[in-house]
Amino acid sequence: MSQLMIKNLHVEVEGKEILKGIDLTVADHEIHALMGPNGNGKSTLLAAIMGHPKYTVTSGTIEYDGRDVLAMSVDERSRAGLFLAMQYPQEVPGVTNSDFLRAAMNARRENPISLFSFIKEMEKTIKDLQMKPDLAHRFLNEGFSGGEKKRNEIVQMKMLKPSLAMLDEIDSGLDVDALKIVADAVTQMQQETGLGMIVVSHYERFYQLLKPTHAHVLINGRIVMEGDETLVQKIDQDGYDWLYQQLDLQP
Ligand code: ADP
Ligand code: MG
Ligand code: MG
Repeated sequence: MSQLMIKNLHVEVEGKEILKGIDLTVADHEIHALMGPNGNGKSTLLAAIMGHPKYTVTSGTIEYDGRDVLAMSVDERSRAGLFLAMQYPQEVPGVTNSDFLRAAMNARRENPISLFSFIKEMEKTIKDLQMKPDLAHRFLNEGFSGGEKKRNEIVQMKMLKPSLAMLDEIDSGLDVDALKIVADAVTQMQQETGLGMIVVSHYERFYQLLKPTHAHVLINGRIVMEGDETLVQKIDQDGYDWLYQQLDLQP
């Protein structure tokens, strides 16, 4: 049983405190919706969990499976089973998608995956996500459309098989059909492997497909409200104004 446990996390970016004491626990099989208006720290939280160097943890703890995540490099976090699908995936000219993925997979294995197995798995995953077959040979994200980049993040997730996946606005920039393809791929993997998830989205439609077990609202660097799917629905209908009023928060 894997569990991510975050306690009283404070994070600074460029000398400014963005997260001001986050507590969050995510176990296997759980899908946590992370919501909140733009600019309140959702991406910062996910980046800090993954170990992005720009995000400095000034106090608090992050443990995964009882291990101290903050003491691990990004690579070690990845090998420990953590995965982040980024809001803005980077283009990496000169490195093909398949080279990148094979290196990432091999970094997590004792013995390298055979070229034959790798190609078979990559072809199947690309097909599952209904992406163009030449994707494997193209440079990582270079010249990809917004939607292709997002789908490519899910290709990586499927191949790397994390035990805890964080999806940062993976649904933005996807048309209705692509949204369904991505949600189906994620749901299938979630059901097969029971991985825990933190899912940032602004769209009730995506959450409807994913069916979160928990929901959190992050405002001004703090989780100000928690609930379940009904909280997601309420925010979809009413926005966040009522929360600012009820909790006397400053925008
Ligand atoms: P959200 O994902 O909720 O929209 P972010 O975590 O991206 O919010 O941003 C929270 C705050 O931190 C914002 O004020 C943003 O400008 C700032 N911030 C986040 N990342 C960076 C960065 N890499 N450099 C400078 N400021 C940043
Ligand atoms: Mg945002
Ligand atoms: Mg964000």
